[in-house]
Amino acid sequence: MALWEDLASWRGPTANRVPNGMVEVRGLVVHIADGTYEGTISHQRDPGTENSSHFIVSREGDIAQMVDTADKAWTQRAGNGHWLSVECSGFSVGSPHHASHPGWERLTDKQIAALGRIFARVHEECGVPLALTADPSGTGLGHHSMGGSAWGHDKCPGPPIIAQKPDILAAARQVARPSGPTPSPGLVVRRAAP
Ligand SMILES: [Zn+2]
Repeated sequence: MALWEDLASWRGPTANRVPNGMVEVRGLVVHIADGTYEGTISHQRDPGTENSSHFIVSREGDIAQMVDTADKAWTQRAGNGHWLSVECSGFSVGSPHHASHPGWERLTDKQIAALGRIFARVHEECGVPLALTADPSGTGLGHHSMGGSAWGHDKCPGPPIIAQKPDILAAARQVARPSGPTPSPGLVVRRAAP
């Protein structure tokens, strides 16, 4: 896999990763960063935080890549080796920045468009279906809290962003090219009756 430099600005490397650690790619997991774009990039480049994601999207739709898609990023614990990840700049209830950014923040239209471009590329490069999922055993566009305690966060990215997942999927469908020959996981090919 790769750095997607036509899609994202390379802002790595970070020590917070496992080289060639991806076991498979079941889809893309959406997070809220509880931070600004540049602040989140700095946070992920700091080895002391032991935190990273493959991509970060700004409120203006800028995309940073922090971790090669072949490497395991550190953002959803048990899900790390199975899902690519994207942090969206913005703030949620309970963050240290809550006083200045109360409530669950929604994605901007530019963030939705950027997330659509990333998810379309995940579809094209990894054979992930253009679909929504809320199941850690499923495939498609997921979100952090769907993994429960095993994934380490039961709130991220918050109800408003979860409700925007269909908008991200619609944006991806507008720009996606057909994916490669890799069949979707779980696809059953039935033989014709004799
Ligand atoms: Zn998260």
